[in-house]
Amino acid sequence: MARSDVFSLLLLLLLAAAAADAGTVKSFKEEKRNVGDQIWSLSLDASTSKSSDMAALHENLDVLHYSSDSVTIFVRKTRLSITKEFLEGRHLAYNVVEKDVALHLQSLQAAEDAVAISRAAESCKEGQCPRPYKQDYMTFEQMEWFLRDLESQYPDNVKLSTEGKSREGRNIYLVRVFQSSASAARSSGSVSSRGQPRPAVFIDGGIHAREWIAPATVLNMLMKQTENCAANTDCDYEYYFMPMMNPDGYEYTWTNDRFWRKNRSPPPLKNDCFGTDLNRNWNPQWGNIGSSSNTCKEIYRGTTPFSEPETTSAKNVMTRIANNPELDLLVYLSYHSFGQLVLYPWGYTSDLAPTKADLEKGGNVYNNALKGVHNVPYVVQQAAELYPASGASDDFAYSLPIKYVYTVELRNTRSFLLPRNEIALTFEENYAGYMALLKHATSQSN
Ligand SMILES: [Zn+2]
Repeated sequence: MARSDVFSLLLLLLLAAAAADAGTVKSFKEEKRNVGDQIWSLSLDASTSKSSDMAALHENLDVLHYSSDSVTIFVRKTRLSITKEFLEGRHLAYNVVEKDVALHLQSLQAAEDAVAISRAAESCKEGQCPRPYKQDYMTFEQMEWFLRDLESQYPDNVKLSTEGKSREGRNIYLVRVFQSSASAARSSGSVSSRGQPRPAVFIDGGIHAREWIAPATVLNMLMKQTENCAANTDCDYEYYFMPMMNPDGYEYTWTNDRFWRKNRSPPPLKNDCFGTDLNRNWNPQWGNIGSSSNTCKEIYRGTTPFSEPETTSAKNVMTRIANNPELDLLVYLSYHSFGQLVLYPWGYTSDLAPTKADLEKGGNVYNNALKGVHNVPYVVQQAAELYPASGASDDFAYSLPIKYVYTVELRNTRSFLLPRNEIALTFEENYAGYMALLKHATSQSN
C-alpha cells in the first residue's frame, strides 16, 4: 500500500472513532459535569484580607477569584458541609452564586452555541479531521490530530516527538520548530554558521487542566511560528512547544469536572484523593510555602519532587535543551489562566531574584507589545507578590538557569470559562508579546 493510502486508511479509522464518540462524551446538550457543585462568594473585611489569612484561604479552599473585599470559591458537592464549617469557624459570611455548576455550564454553552460556530466533533463527519484552533477549544484527541497534521504539512520545519506518557498513558508531546536546512544554508552569516549557539525558547501550556485558554493559545502560537519559519521570516530561534502538559486532567475537564486543576494520579491510600498539582511538583524549593502535603488539596505537591510523569517529561526536555552546547536556552514561557498577569521569579519567596531588573524589563517588553494589540491591560509583577507558591515550573526554569522566565496568566480577570470568541484575541496579543520578548532577549545577549 502506498504511504498516502495508509495515511488515508488511518484517517478514516480516526474519523470513524471520532464520529462514534461525538454523540456521547463531547455533547454538551445534557451537561453531566459538576452536577451539584456550587460557586460561592465570601465577603472580606479589612481584618480578613491580610496575606496570612489569604494563604489559609488558598490552602483550604479552591479560590477562583479574589479582590480586596470578596473571594469567589468553587465548592464540590462532596465538600459543601466541610466548607460551610470552615467558613463559619472563621466567621466569614458567604452567599451561593451558582447553586448547580452543571446548569451554569449548560447555560453558558447554550449562549455560545447561539453564536453559531459548529462544534468541532460534529464537522469531523464531513471527512476532514477538524482543527478549529482559532475558533474553539479542542479536545485532547483533536490536539493530537492537529499536531500530526502540522508535522506532515511542514516536514522541513516541524518535528513532533513523544517525551513520555502521562499517568493514564496519554502522550506528552514536544514540537520542535526550526528553520529548514535549505533556508539555513541560504542565510549566510546566520548565528549557527558563526559557530555560536542558536537561541532557544521553551513554551508550555495546560499544566492546570481547567485553564483551557492556555493550551489553545500555545497551539495558535505554534501554528503561527511554524508559518513564519516556513516563510523564512522571524525564525532565528529553535522553538520548543509542549502545548499540553496535563492531558489526563484536561480530558477529565471535558468528561467529568470542568473545574479540575491537577493531574489524575490515583490516591496513595484509600481515603486520599486523586491528583497532584503539577505546578507544585518541581524543584528547587519543593515542599515549602504555598503547597500542601494533603492529597485532597488543590495545591497537593506530590510525594517527592518530580513524582509525576508529566513534570518529569518536561524537566527532562528542558534540561536536555539547556545542556545542548549548540543551543542557548534564553526564554521560558508557561501559559496559565486567568488574571492577565506577566509573572517572573521568584514564586516561592518575596525575596528578589538576583536578576530582577532584567526579568522586569523583559516582562515590560512583553506587556507593552501585548497592550499595543487590543489594549487589554495585563500587570507585570513578581510571582510571589500574587501569593507565594513553591515547587512551580518557573522557579525551576530560572534555576536551570534560563535568563527570561515568565508565567503568563491569560484572559480574563474573572473566570476559567473564557468564551471561545476570545481565543484568537488572546493569541494575537500574546504572540506580539512573545515576538517582542524574543527579539529583546537576543539583542541583550549579543
Ligand atoms: Zn495555572
